[in-house]
Amino acid sequence: MRRLVILGSTGSIGVQALDVVSSTEGLEVVALSAGSRWQDLLVQAQRQGVRRIAIADEQSAELARAAWDGEVLSGPQSLEHLILGAEPDLVLNAIVGAAGLAPTVVTLSEGIDLALANKESLVVGGELVVELAAATGARLLPVDSEHSALHQLIASEEGRSAATIERLTLTASGGPFRGRSRSELESVTVEEALRHPTWEMGGKISIDSATLINKGLEVIEAHQLFGTAYSAIDVVIHPQSIVHAMISLADGSSLAHLGYPDMRVPIAYALHWPERAELELAPLDLEQIGSLTFEAVDNDAFPCLQLALTAGREGGTAPCVLNAANEIAVAAFLDRRCGFLQIAEVIARTLENAQIEQSYSFDTLIESDRAARATAAEHLAALA
Ligand code: NAD
Ligand code: MG
Repeated sequence: MRRLVILGSTGSIGVQALDVVSSTEGLEVVALSAGSRWQDLLVQAQRQGVRRIAIADEQSAELARAAWDGEVLSGPQSLEHLILGAEPDLVLNAIVGAAGLAPTVVTLSEGIDLALANKESLVVGGELVVELAAATGARLLPVDSEHSALHQLIASEEGRSAATIERLTLTASGGPFRGRSRSELESVTVEEALRHPTWEMGGKISIDSATLINKGLEVIEAHQLFGTAYSAIDVVIHPQSIVHAMISLADGSSLAHLGYPDMRVPIAYALHWPERAELELAPLDLEQIGSLTFEAVDNDAFPCLQLALTAGREGGTAPCVLNAANEIAVAAFLDRRCGFLQIAEVIARTLENAQIEQSYSFDTLIESDRAARATAAEHLAALA
């Protein structure tokens, strides 16, 4: 049995991961965590026979303690204690946002393998996270569907020279606003932005997909995971979300990874690696799908992708600043405190005003994140 800790188990990825655990053999859940939805978390803990959980929100943790006789951790060090106390073989980090960085660092520092859905860890932590994994020998297994696809495609070239792989391509569905012009995006609502055409996901990543910054975060994630230069990573819009990624090889071959948009596939891949799990899913039916189409990104209507690529190329703390500003702007949009187009505006202005450090430690990142959030909040207030 592989001992598994799931962080963010009440979210979209967390719930699907528990589904993978119950529908496949060999995984034992030994600890769970959530931000605030304590009742859902208690139900999960009871079902899994877990006796120790962590809850980020103090008030929710208090309520959970009053309702349950298991151990409920909270406070700044709670995820560290949860992970270390559980003695896991694998941690799934399915927390949303930069809050996922600290448990990523704890897991990798201990040499524990990490199934990483929390892409923000790699965007914010960058080289430090990758170097930490290399130093302790812990494995970083991507859960993001495109990166899971790339992991599999790159593995198929193992044993050949690294130069064989010339380019990586990430596909993007284009989100709910694909095909709209910039002016048509001015008055879109939160409900429209949350209605993703092909994937069902948490609120923050759904908005990130609508602005296309999600794809920018994913290019940075791919650059960090696979060590590929930004100039060798392409993004293409593919509305059907059947082709998840492609690698282009020196001999003119291109290999692509296909599948229905179902996150249980990349989750199962990461949780069961290096084995393949048996999932009861319908095989891909190309006749029924009919056509796969591809188009270029409209950078005028969706400036967030280029903002992310610029921050990625600049490196240092720039992706950390970009991510922090995005989190503040997306929260404001979801709260109806700003419009859709203002998300890009807040990010651009925050990046312009930020002091970017080229060399950084984890403490520098915490400080950059804090400062960028404060600047982004000021820009938001000025827009209102
Ligand atoms: P979600 O909002 O549905 O769930 C987030 C989880 O994190 C919840 O359990 C929540 O309680 C917990 N959480 C939130 N804030 C926290 C905090 N401060 N401290 C501790 N826990 C906290 O999000 P999601 O859609 O499941 O996405 C999770 C991560 O996976 C994100 O980084 C996202 O980009 C990535 N991802 C998601 C999908 C998807 O299909 N949902 C696909 C690819 C990548
Ligand atoms: Mg993805």
